[in-house]
Amino acid sequence: MEKKNIEWAELGFGYMKTDYRFVSHYQNGAWDEGVLTEDANVVINECAGVLQYAQTVFEGMKAYTTADGRIVTFRPDLNGERMEQSAVRLEMPVYPKEEFVKAVLKTIKANEAYVPPYGSGATLYVRPYLFGSNPVIGVKPADEYQFRVFTTPVGPYFKGGVKPLTIRISDFDRAAPNGTGHIKAGLNYAMSLYAIVDAHKQGYDENMYLDAATRTKVEETGGANFLFVTKDGKVVTPKSDSILPSITRRSLMQVAREYLGLEAQEREVYVEELADFAECGLCGTAAVISPVGKIVDHGKEICLPSGMSEMGPVTKKLYDTLTGIQMGTIKAPKGWVVEV
Ligand SMILES: *Cc1c(COP(=O)(O)O)cnc(C)c1O
Repeated sequence: MEKKNIEWAELGFGYMKTDYRFVSHYQNGAWDEGVLTEDANVVINECAGVLQYAQTVFEGMKAYTTADGRIVTFRPDLNGERMEQSAVRLEMPVYPKEEFVKAVLKTIKANEAYVPPYGSGATLYVRPYLFGSNPVIGVKPADEYQFRVFTTPVGPYFKGGVKPLTIRISDFDRAAPNGTGHIKAGLNYAMSLYAIVDAHKQGYDENMYLDAATRTKVEETGGANFLFVTKDGKVVTPKSDSILPSITRRSLMQVAREYLGLEAQEREVYVEELADFAECGLCGTAAVISPVGKIVDHGKEICLPSGMSEMGPVTKKLYDTLTGIQMGTIKAPKGWVVEV
């Protein structure tokens, strides 16, 4: 198979149309088998459930080439499981996780020519999504749905080197207790746009959201979970029912314990403790971990001892170990790296 003529290292994080996408329709209470299509456009009625009442959920994952030339993806079963949970919360029919994994692998395979080579730092981003497609005007769940998967090549996340982020504590809330913060729904992103545009205007890279009920505990950013390192080398991640369960974060906690021999705790993290941490990072599929150098709490600057020029030492070890596992240079736990 011949690769497309793309400047892999120059790619940003944007959409590029690739050759194939997967689509399956849900009608009369059942999913059809699904097909690959070359048509990148979705034609739906003007009154479709997704357009009127935002009935849509999604996933984000990556396909990449390992050191020994295999095309793989990372823990797709967990994305499938999470999409099932997201669908249930928005009254959508579940697209079964086994079928989800098959559809994802099939779509990657069909777009093999777009999977960046090993060492380029680029990856093929994979976007599965599910939405209500038939007309709905009274507020109720749609009866018809589409499950789709498309891919787009994306560039290296840390182009030109790692640069620790400056983030602010946001006065906006991301998720309510007993709300939808724990599912991967478009609606959580729509309502975060105002806050992120404002953060950028004020010179910050990201918003740190607090728990909406007491505004004393750390939750997450708009699209990534937090990982902290204490001064005595423990890895800590916030525990809350309104945080999206990041697969990267869950994997990093396991890497901390089983590969690095570190203590790793999921517990409530108070704003008051932020100044006591040695390192802070944001974790998600796109970057694996982006280091945070500074947190601004309404004018009060909290500077992480790891500084503004590089990743902290523990963050770096976590990053190197997980990316080594993904790229096949470090032995992976069973089922983590799935060949296409
Ligand atoms: C997708 C997402 C993450 C990261 O999850 P991964 O599975 O690691 O990619 C974190 N927070 C939010 C709100 C997200 O939507």
